[in-house]
Amino acid sequence: MNDFNQLLLNAQQTYQKHFQPTTCFERAIFYSWDCSIKDCGFCYMSAHTKKETTPTATRSTASILAEVILCKKLGWDIGFLSGGINALTHTQLKELLHKIFAVYGQKIWLNIGPIPLEKLKEYTPHIKGIVGSIETINPELHKKVCPSKPKEPYEKMFEHTTALGLKNAMSFIVGMGETLDDFELLKQFVQKYSINKIHVYGLIPHKGTMFENTPPPTAEYQAEWIARIRCEFPTINIQCGIWEDRTERIELLLKAGANTISKFQAIKKFNSPEAQQIEQQAAAARRTFKGTLTKMQEINADEEVSQLQFDDELKQQIKQKLTTYLTTMSRNTVACEQ
Ligand code: SF4
Repeated sequence: MNDFNQLLLNAQQTYQKHFQPTTCFERAIFYSWDCSIKDCGFCYMSAHTKKETTPTATRSTASILAEVILCKKLGWDIGFLSGGINALTHTQLKELLHKIFAVYGQKIWLNIGPIPLEKLKEYTPHIKGIVGSIETINPELHKKVCPSKPKEPYEKMFEHTTALGLKNAMSFIVGMGETLDDFELLKQFVQKYSINKIHVYGLIPHKGTMFENTPPPTAEYQAEWIARIRCEFPTINIQCGIWEDRTERIELLLKAGANTISKFQAIKKFNSPEAQQIEQQAAAARRTFKGTLTKMQEINADEEVSQLQFDDELKQQIKQKLTTYLTTMSRNTVACEQ
């Protein structure tokens, strides 16, 4: 057995010792797509100029809450709530978190950049932890790919969250020029900041960014990072980020010890061949797929919304949005079955 296969086997056994043989899809919910930084080298935003903003940059509360209802009904975990820095005021964000909690019934992860202690305290009733966008652990590479997003404010935030009893998570993108020699740095970081959850994404070479002509990382390379993390941190929660053109690697990433799967356009691509492949790959990795990306559920928008304790206007708006999402998903289902 070669080294990679041995690592994979160790990771698989470690996973089996600490977790149920299940997996699921995690949906990241965004309340805005605009960003004041716009210069992280891997991000599609860096292909835009600083002055460009999207006219519909902030989503309506109703559409966010409709998406939360879908997550609940279809068995998708909420990976995190995210949005551009300062896209919402502190009060607006607090109100949104309160409403999401009212619909979802659980605390969620929050990923909105470094948050000062005083604000964190006020989000605490509705969040289980925060996700720091660390992106890469190699210091030189970090300076290059995140010139306006230093790690230090996130490190400060991790100290605050730990003191407040919140959990810490981080994002980690492979394929930007780091090497497996950087694993030691990642290990030290995870230990130092008590990271409970890590999102391991693979670079997407977006057009117009500095990585436009960089090949995406191989499945084996992404799997090796995940397997090393799993072996070193047996109980950490690992999420593997894929993309619609990388669904064929899920079996390997799950075998490497990932818990859950993210970065898939689950509404737009509901029951698409790619969505079907995700569930097939989970089965090939001998994991039961909790929830569904392929089977339309009976969701009665009237019933769902009537249970909510919001004013009639917001309820009506949520119902409209939920109906629109369900129509899109049903259309996919019909189209894929033809
Ligand atoms: S990664 Fe985040 S902070 Fe960086 S440019 Fe993209 S949206 Fe902005």
